[in-house]
Amino acid sequence: MTDRAKLLQSFMGRVAARNAGQDEFLQAVGEVAFDVLTVEKAHAAWARARVLERLTEPDRIIGFRVVWENDDGEVEINSGWRVQTSNAIGPYKGGLRFSPGVCPSVLKFLGFEQVFKNALTGLPLGGGKGGADFDPRGRSEAEIMRFCQAFMTELARYIGPDEDVPAGDINVGPREIGYLFGAYKRLRGQFHGALTGKGEAFGGSALRVEATGYGLVYFVEAMLAEEGRELARRRVAISGKGNVAAHAAEKAICEGAKVVTLSDRSGTLVAEDGMGQDALDWVRERKQAGQDVADPPRGLGLAFREGVAPWGLVEAEIGLPCATQNEIDAKAAKSAMDAGLRVLAEGANMPLTRDAMEALREAGVGYAPGKATNAGGVAISGLEMSQNSSIRPLDPEDVDRALRRIMGEIHNRAAEEGRDGNRIDYRRGANVAAYRKVATAIAAYGVL
Ligand code: NDP
Repeated sequence: MTDRAKLLQSFMGRVAARNAGQDEFLQAVGEVAFDVLTVEKAHAAWARARVLERLTEPDRIIGFRVVWENDDGEVEINSGWRVQTSNAIGPYKGGLRFSPGVCPSVLKFLGFEQVFKNALTGLPLGGGKGGADFDPRGRSEAEIMRFCQAFMTELARYIGPDEDVPAGDINVGPREIGYLFGAYKRLRGQFHGALTGKGEAFGGSALRVEATGYGLVYFVEAMLAEEGRELARRRVAISGKGNVAAHAAEKAICEGAKVVTLSDRSGTLVAEDGMGQDALDWVRERKQAGQDVADPPRGLGLAFREGVAPWGLVEAEIGLPCATQNEIDAKAAKSAMDAGLRVLAEGANMPLTRDAMEALREAGVGYAPGKATNAGGVAISGLEMSQNSSIRPLDPEDVDRALRRIMGEIHNRAAEEGRDGNRIDYRRGANVAAYRKVATAIAAYGVL
């Protein structure tokens, strides 16, 4: 067994003993530990401070009951959480997710990833994540509003502009942020930027909604530029039809690429010749109405494939998984490679299983992890925070320029640390670059 393998085994043994059964969390920690433990060991102060092991234990996990009334007047009960992972380099920052799969393991993995992602942006932002096991599908607008208000009744006491600044995530979009911020403002009697992703009429930043998807495409363009290639005319397969997927598709089309798939839980839409704006508009309407994409109208160039994911369904050189964690296993990765995949950049957080990542690595497919590629959303959230405190909103053009610049800088940080001959290991580069920044801060604070 190599020294690195021994180090990893002993480290993961301790983390697993404290987090039994928390599979997603252990998967995320294992991926970072593989790249970072040797860096930590080589730096005496960081090794003595046991920086990475400290980061595997969140500063705190707040759990609470969310009680609300449905449209039939019945009382419903959900569980809510906020995981405050680390504020070593700035206030806790990370989204809120409403989904039946939300649990401490998922939120701990997302909060852990967020610490590294936020450090990579170059902004002073710590990491955290939160949400509830609430399923908004089939709920009325009034029920969603009452749920958001009940959720904030408890969360409000733990957040604030210098303390913890949540944003949206799966099933928490501009509408939910509006209800959450309204409730926060009323409970605290203060108007300040304790949430990001707000509407532009009440302190939101231009392009916050678009930022994650647009930023993902800017990152892919930076990856391709490393090889002297461009995005225009390349075939791009995307999973999901939500915020990240739709905006990645919009930007990719705008940059001249052919978007050949989008998907949801019902199946995949295939556009053999690339989607046009009218097809994208229809998908968006369906998402907004809470409907699936199973029956595309004629004339949009779309075919629907029920119950299957996009990977390998149609030829595509670039893959952008933008739905959820572990959506691509080794078999799906192989199908995508058989269909021409050469570059995969993650829009979702941890969409690849460990085996899928290994399969891509062995085949030499260019791969970039979500903590680098989907950081555009949190970066523009950081700009929203500074616009709120300076009371000076930026123009959309300025925000877009800042987003492109920040994604280029994230790319360069990850590429610099990950360069290995003429190959770039973006995963290692992103993990190590982010770790160095957070470790420097944690070691400076002493033992606490
Ligand atoms: P949305 O809720 O807007 O969209 C999620 C999409 O993924 C939906 O189309 C949903 O399908 C689909 N989906 C979810 N689970 C599955 C599944 N098991 N199988 C197939 N499709 C599925 O979420 P976002 O776009 O905001 O988030 C997507 C990913 O991006 C998440 O991993 C999130 O953490 C990450 N992310 C989001 C950021 C943001 O700014 N929003 C920032 C950084 C990362 P359906 O419509 O059928 O429900």
